[in-house]
Amino acid sequence: MNRWGEKRYHSLDYDLKNTYGEKVYKITLNGGMTCPNRDGTVGTGGCIFCSSKGSGDFAGSASRSISEQITRGKQDLRKKRPVHSYIAYFQAFTNTYAPAARLEELYLEAIQDPEVKILSIATRPDCLGDDVLEVLDRINQIKPVWVELGLQTIHPAAASYIRRGYTLSIFEKAVRDLRGLGITVIVHTIFYLPGESQEEMLNTIDYLNDMDIQGIKLQLLHILRDTDLAADYARQPFHVPDMMEYIQFLGTCIARLNPRITIHRLTGDGPEELLIAPLWTSNKRTVLNTLHRHLKEQDIWQGKEYHD
Ligand code: SF4
Repeated sequence: MNRWGEKRYHSLDYDLKNTYGEKVYKITLNGGMTCPNRDGTVGTGGCIFCSSKGSGDFAGSASRSISEQITRGKQDLRKKRPVHSYIAYFQAFTNTYAPAARLEELYLEAIQDPEVKILSIATRPDCLGDDVLEVLDRINQIKPVWVELGLQTIHPAAASYIRRGYTLSIFEKAVRDLRGLGITVIVHTIFYLPGESQEEMLNTIDYLNDMDIQGIKLQLLHILRDTDLAADYARQPFHVPDMMEYIQFLGTCIARLNPRITIHRLTGDGPEELLIAPLWTSNKRTVLNTLHRHLKEQDIWQGKEYHD
């Protein structure tokens, strides 16, 4: 079982080492954008789980230029290890939500550094108009562009609860448009949304298996301080899995996942100072070690239960 190095799943690390010959590190950036789900265009409260920093709690400060954020990000990473290759990752808020000319300036600034190998952009599928797609196309001719779309779930009830603010058909159009330009698409999913069964979560995986996407982020729902989700949880606590329940579910999910899709994330790492639950996710090393042991003991690998 060494199709992906020592791991039993198709990891991002494996892909990057294969392509660039070494580990490639992310520098999280803040381009100073907001989000249509916060400024009133789509909604005002934002997604129910989203922190005040627009799910960009590890991103640099928007008061600094992109070049400065990259320089600082490199300095921080190099304190711990020698690093030569980076992904410039626009993480905070909706990173295609600005005039196209401004976006192009920001993206060009990010990729001008020769050590930045990839531009990764987190956004909403309803913020990819023709002018934005043209910018992404031009940048993708210079360096690879990844676009990360926050889908979270395919189920309308959960999508409505989290106030996602767009329909599945908009997501499908965004994937088609991006893939028409040869842009890498990564999809963000959230497990254990209140009221969703494991079977429903796996339906989201089955759906994505058939889509032309290249990567997936599997995120366990994090309840963060000062969010509407935290208020709901305080009023009426909903089920939050313990580590073993989540590991067992992840095993099932990995077995169902199409082996060609790269896994970019397996749990998520909410900022410790904001995290209310599940607190065990802070110990990422233990979570990953336990998962690797579980996959080995149960002889699970990515795609074991996937059938074309
Ligand atoms: S779309 Fe992203 S930035 Fe906007 S509210 Fe939702 S999670 Fe937050």
